[in-house]
Amino acid sequence: MGRMRMLGEFAAVRWLRPLRTRAAVARRQRRLLRRHLRFLGRRSPYFRGLLATRGFMELPVMDKSVMMAHFDVMNTVGVRRDEALALAIANERSRDFDADLGKNSVGLSSGTSGHRGLFVVSAAERDAWVGTVLARTLPRRRLLGHRIALFLRADNSLYESVGSRAVSFSYFDVYADMDENVDRLQAYRPTILVAPPSVLRMIARAVEDGRLDAMPERVYAVAEVLEIADERRIATALRQPFLHQLYQCTEGFLAHTCDHGVLHLNEDSVLFEREELGEGRFTPIVTDLRRRAQPIVRYRLGDVLRTRATPCACGSALTAIERIEGREGDILLLRGLDGRTVPVFADLVSRALLYAEGFDEYRVVQTGPSRLEIALDVLDDRSRSSVQAEIDVLAHRLGCEHPMIDWAPYAHDGTVKLRRVARTWREDGDAAL
Ligand SMILES: [Zn+2]
Repeated sequence: MGRMRMLGEFAAVRWLRPLRTRAAVARRQRRLLRRHLRFLGRRSPYFRGLLATRGFMELPVMDKSVMMAHFDVMNTVGVRRDEALALAIANERSRDFDADLGKNSVGLSSGTSGHRGLFVVSAAERDAWVGTVLARTLPRRRLLGHRIALFLRADNSLYESVGSRAVSFSYFDVYADMDENVDRLQAYRPTILVAPPSVLRMIARAVEDGRLDAMPERVYAVAEVLEIADERRIATALRQPFLHQLYQCTEGFLAHTCDHGVLHLNEDSVLFEREELGEGRFTPIVTDLRRRAQPIVRYRLGDVLRTRATPCACGSALTAIERIEGREGDILLLRGLDGRTVPVFADLVSRALLYAEGFDEYRVVQTGPSRLEIALDVLDDRSRSSVQAEIDVLAHRLGCEHPMIDWAPYAHDGTVKLRRVARTWREDGDAAL
């Protein structure tokens, strides 16, 4: 049964639903939204109350804290928050993700925002999700016989239903010893490799050091922002024309890379509203039009995305994205020469550091109003002065005070999501940004 559902979804996404015009996208979204709202009105006490007096566009925008606060009345499968949370924590501790709540899987989302998120997926949604992901990831030239290596930080039984003769999956624990993982990779010889950029960097280094020569056909970067410099280095080492990305988070499967190497929003099942940030940048507010167990409706993500100025040559009508730039909370806030606060997008900082020399790994954290801590793996006069110069050029270009820089050695930490550019300092009234 599960497999049929999965295959049905696979076929639908891959062959039956090509959306070639924006009008076709809008039509499909309207139809799915009408159906979804009817369902929520029947099955979710939270949304029934709201929808009695207002339409979709008047629904409150939600985030993780709203979702957690109304968890019990919002979900449509009768799962209680405390029970689900206890189970999810036990699963996470034991790193054994077999325990489910009836027909539903539960998991924790790590989240960089500090809140702990809880997600619930029904068996049907899990099958559909697997079908969609496979339809979006398996190469066009060859469908069968793939070996997929998955490096995952947190897992639940979501992925386990998938193994079959057509496709084999092997799970790698990012907490495990990396040398062991490299040995396992070498023996498994994956055709498709899926991992966060920080893990891909370590795999690329193993290739450069001659410890690994199993070259996958395709490489997917997931779960962390993919910086330009990292993408180049990983793609070169693993002999890829470009890296694919799956923009997948607790809130849904939101974007995928097409055959032309361009990210497209998954607007065939997710509705995107935008909070514009200027110059093509926006923060998405997403509604998953098909997710029923735990509704994701007008959910504000807090990520910064940048739209592509030119349409993609692949012909898809799904919105093309230039980059996913990271978390909104990681936009640096430097002091302008005129005293105003100047937002500096993470992408600008990583671009500036493309020109700096003498190091491999870096991390930039804003720790004060005009203060940065910069960690480099090679910390000498050359790397320091090169980075200092590029930061000064950037500050000058943006009309900011030159920030004070505290230097630190770079330490790799596989247990947290890698954010190369982050801000730990909070300005008064920052939450409003
Ligand atoms: Zn495309």
